Amino acid sequence: MSQRKRKPGRGKRPRQRAARGKKTVAAIPPRPGMVRVRRSRVHGRGVFALRRIRKGTRIIEYLGDRVSHRQADLRYEHKPISDNHTFLFIVDRSVVIDGGANGNEARFINHSCDPNCESLIDDGRVFIEAVRTIRPGEEITYDYQIGRDRADPSNVDEIFACRCGAQRCRGSMLWPPRRRAPAPRRAPRRAGKNT
Ligand SMILES: [Zn+2]
Repeated sequence: MSQRKRKPGRGKRPRQRAARGKKTVAAIPPRPGMVRVRRSRVHGRGVFALRRIRKGTRIIEYLGDRVSHRQADLRYEHKPISDNHTFLFIVDRSVVIDGGANGNEARFINHSCDPNCESLIDDGRVFIEAVRTIRPGEEITYDYQIGRDRADPSNVDEIFACRCGAQRCRGSMLWPPRRRAPAPRRAPRRAGKNT
Protein backbone atom coordinates (compact mmCIF):
# COMPACT_ATOMS: atom_id res chain seq x y z
CA MET A 1 0.00 0.00 0.00
CA SER A 2 1.50 3.23 -1.05
CA GLN A 3 -0.04 6.13 0.67
CA ARG A 4 -0.41 9.57 2.03
CA LYS A 5 -0.89 12.36 -0.28
CA ARG A 6 -1.41 15.52 1.58
CA LYS A 7 -1.75 19.19 1.17
CA PRO A 8 -2.50 21.77 3.83
CA GLY A 9 -5.80 20.98 5.44
CA ARG A 10 -5.95 17.56 3.87
CA GLY A 11 -6.46 14.49 5.96
CA LYS A 12 -9.09 12.30 7.43
CA ARG A 13 -11.44 14.15 9.68
CA PRO A 14 -13.15 12.68 12.66
CA ARG A 15 -16.59 13.61 13.80
CA GLN A 16 -16.10 15.98 16.62
CA ARG A 17 -17.59 14.69 19.77
CA ALA A 18 -17.04 15.87 23.26
CA ALA A 19 -15.82 13.42 25.81
CA ARG A 20 -18.81 12.16 27.67
CA GLY A 21 -18.29 13.86 30.95
CA LYS A 22 -14.77 12.59 31.25
CA LYS A 23 -11.64 14.65 31.45
CA THR A 24 -9.21 11.95 30.52
CA VAL A 25 -9.61 8.94 28.33
CA ALA A 26 -8.52 5.60 29.53
CA ALA A 27 -6.39 3.76 27.03
CA ILE A 28 -8.28 1.04 25.23
CA PRO A 29 -7.04 -2.23 26.61
CA PRO A 30 -5.64 -4.52 23.96
CA ARG A 31 -8.44 -6.54 22.47
CA PRO A 32 -6.86 -9.50 20.81
CA GLY A 33 -9.15 -11.29 18.46
CA MET A 34 -11.44 -8.39 17.66
CA VAL A 35 -10.06 -7.33 14.27
CA ARG A 36 -7.32 -8.22 11.87
CA VAL A 37 -5.71 -6.75 8.76
CA ARG A 38 -6.01 -8.52 5.43
CA ARG A 39 -6.56 -7.82 1.76
CA SER A 40 -9.67 -5.85 1.01
CA ARG A 41 -11.83 -5.72 -2.07
CA VAL A 42 -12.37 -2.03 -1.46
CA HIS A 43 -8.80 -0.88 -1.40
CA GLY A 44 -5.46 -2.54 -0.70
CA ARG A 45 -5.56 -3.87 2.79
CA GLY A 46 -8.44 -3.50 5.17
CA VAL A 47 -9.40 -4.27 8.73
CA PHE A 48 -11.96 -6.99 9.37
CA ALA A 49 -14.01 -8.05 12.34
CA LEU A 50 -13.04 -11.42 13.74
CA ARG A 51 -16.13 -11.58 15.87
CA ARG A 52 -19.42 -9.82 16.43
CA ILE A 53 -18.82 -6.27 17.59
CA ARG A 54 -21.59 -4.42 19.32
CA LYS A 55 -22.72 -0.94 18.42
CA GLY A 56 -20.91 1.61 20.55
CA THR A 57 -17.76 -0.47 20.98
CA ARG A 58 -14.54 1.46 20.75
CA ILE A 59 -12.66 -0.82 18.44
CA ILE A 60 -9.30 0.82 18.10
CA GLU A 61 -7.44 4.05 18.66
CA TYR A 62 -5.90 5.77 15.63
CA LEU A 63 -2.25 5.90 16.60
CA GLY A 64 0.80 7.52 15.09
CA ASP A 65 3.19 10.42 15.50
CA ARG A 66 1.48 13.58 16.66
CA VAL A 67 2.80 16.36 14.49
CA SER A 68 1.88 19.87 13.46
CA HIS A 69 0.10 20.51 10.17
CA ARG A 70 3.30 22.05 8.91
CA GLN A 71 5.33 19.00 9.83
CA ALA A 72 2.74 16.78 8.17
CA ASP A 73 3.04 18.82 4.99
CA LEU A 74 6.80 18.54 5.05
CA ARG A 75 6.67 14.80 5.61
CA TYR A 76 4.54 14.16 2.56
CA GLU A 77 5.32 17.03 0.24
CA HIS A 78 7.13 14.66 -2.12
CA LYS A 79 4.00 12.59 -2.69
CA PRO A 80 2.46 13.08 -6.12
CA ILE A 81 -0.78 15.01 -6.21
CA SER A 82 -2.51 11.99 -7.76
CA ASP A 83 -1.76 9.82 -4.73
CA ASN A 84 -5.04 9.31 -2.94
CA HIS A 85 -3.79 7.58 0.16
CA THR A 86 -3.44 9.36 3.40
CA PHE A 87 -2.39 8.18 6.82
CA LEU A 88 -2.91 11.62 8.24
CA PHE A 89 -5.73 12.26 10.64
CA ILE A 90 -6.62 15.80 11.64
CA VAL A 91 -7.14 16.17 15.36
CA ASP A 92 -7.51 19.92 15.46
CA ARG A 93 -5.95 23.05 14.05
CA SER A 94 -2.59 22.30 15.55
CA VAL A 95 -2.27 18.53 15.64
CA VAL A 96 -2.27 15.83 12.97
CA ILE A 97 -1.78 12.15 13.71
CA ASP A 98 0.51 10.49 11.19
CA GLY A 99 -0.50 6.85 11.13
CA GLY A 100 2.38 6.23 8.71
CA ALA A 101 4.85 6.63 11.57
CA ASN A 102 4.42 4.58 14.71
CA GLY A 103 0.87 3.82 13.67
CA ASN A 104 -1.22 0.75 14.28
CA GLU A 105 -3.78 -1.32 12.37
CA ALA A 106 -6.21 1.61 12.40
CA ARG A 107 -4.38 3.15 9.46
CA PHE A 108 -5.58 0.30 7.25
CA ILE A 109 -9.26 0.90 7.92
CA ASN A 110 -10.90 1.85 4.63
CA HIS A 111 -13.36 4.60 3.86
CA SER A 112 -17.04 3.89 3.21
CA CYS A 113 -19.93 6.21 2.46
CA ASP A 114 -22.18 3.89 4.45
CA PRO A 115 -19.79 2.90 7.20
CA ASN A 116 -20.24 0.66 10.21
CA CYS A 117 -18.00 2.85 12.37
CA GLU A 118 -17.27 6.48 12.97
CA SER A 119 -14.15 8.25 14.04
CA LEU A 120 -14.34 10.56 16.98
CA ILE A 121 -12.04 12.72 18.98
CA ASP A 122 -11.95 12.32 22.68
CA ASP A 123 -9.50 14.35 24.69
CA GLY A 124 -7.28 14.94 21.67
CA ARG A 125 -7.20 11.29 20.71
CA VAL A 126 -8.94 9.60 17.82
CA PHE A 127 -11.01 6.46 18.22
CA ILE A 128 -12.89 4.26 15.82
CA GLU A 129 -16.23 3.29 17.27
CA ALA A 130 -18.93 0.96 15.93
CA VAL A 131 -22.13 2.76 14.94
CA ARG A 132 -23.98 -0.50 14.46
CA THR A 133 -23.48 -4.13 15.24
CA ILE A 134 -20.78 -5.61 13.03
CA ARG A 135 -20.84 -9.23 11.93
CA PRO A 136 -17.77 -11.45 12.02
CA GLY A 137 -15.86 -11.14 8.75
CA GLU A 138 -17.30 -7.73 7.92
CA GLU A 139 -14.85 -5.04 6.90
CA ILE A 140 -14.49 -2.17 9.38
CA THR A 141 -15.09 1.20 7.72
CA TYR A 142 -15.68 4.83 8.56
CA ASP A 143 -16.26 7.97 6.54
CA TYR A 144 -12.91 9.72 5.98
CA GLN A 145 -14.59 13.05 5.29
CA ILE A 146 -11.45 14.38 3.69
CA GLY A 147 -11.69 18.13 3.59
CA ARG A 148 -11.52 20.29 0.54
CA ASP A 149 -9.18 23.18 0.22
CA ARG A 150 -8.51 25.92 -2.23
CA ALA A 151 -5.36 24.36 -3.65
CA ASP A 152 -7.19 21.18 -4.72
CA PRO A 153 -6.71 20.22 -8.36
CA SER A 154 -9.89 20.37 -10.41
CA ASN A 155 -10.04 16.58 -10.60
CA VAL A 156 -9.74 16.12 -6.85
CA ASP A 157 -12.98 14.11 -6.74
CA GLU A 158 -11.54 11.71 -9.31
CA ILE A 159 -8.33 11.34 -7.36
CA PHE A 160 -10.31 10.61 -4.21
CA ALA A 161 -13.00 8.62 -6.00
CA CYS A 162 -14.84 6.19 -3.75
CA ARG A 163 -15.62 2.66 -4.79
CA CYS A 164 -17.06 1.48 -1.52
CA GLY A 165 -20.00 -0.10 -3.30
CA ALA A 166 -22.57 1.27 -0.89
CA GLN A 167 -25.96 2.04 -2.36
CA ARG A 168 -25.62 5.59 -1.12
CA CYS A 169 -22.01 5.92 -2.28
CA ARG A 170 -21.38 9.60 -2.99
CA GLY A 171 -18.52 8.70 -5.32
CA SER A 172 -15.91 10.66 -3.41
CA MET A 173 -14.09 10.42 -0.11
CA LEU A 174 -14.24 14.17 0.19
CA TRP A 175 -16.64 16.10 2.34
CA PRO A 176 -18.80 18.04 1.67
CA PRO A 177 -19.87 15.86 -1.26
CA ARG A 178 -19.67 18.32 -4.09
CA ARG A 179 -17.29 21.06 -4.85
CA ARG A 180 -19.11 24.32 -4.84
CA ALA A 181 -18.49 26.48 -7.83
CA PRO A 182 -15.76 28.89 -6.85
CA ALA A 183 -17.15 32.28 -6.07
CA PRO A 184 -16.37 34.63 -8.92
CA ARG A 185 -13.83 37.19 -7.98
CA ARG A 186 -15.35 40.59 -7.99
CA ALA A 187 -13.87 43.93 -7.49
CA PRO A 188 -15.16 45.47 -4.31
CA ARG A 189 -18.35 47.32 -4.97
CA ARG A 190 -18.15 51.02 -4.93
CA ALA A 191 -20.80 53.09 -3.36
CA GLY A 192 -23.30 54.38 -5.86
CA LYS A 193 -22.16 52.13 -8.70
CA ASN A 194 -24.61 49.43 -7.99
CA THR A 195 -28.36 49.53 -7.88
ZN1 LIG B 1 -18.50 5.41 -1.38
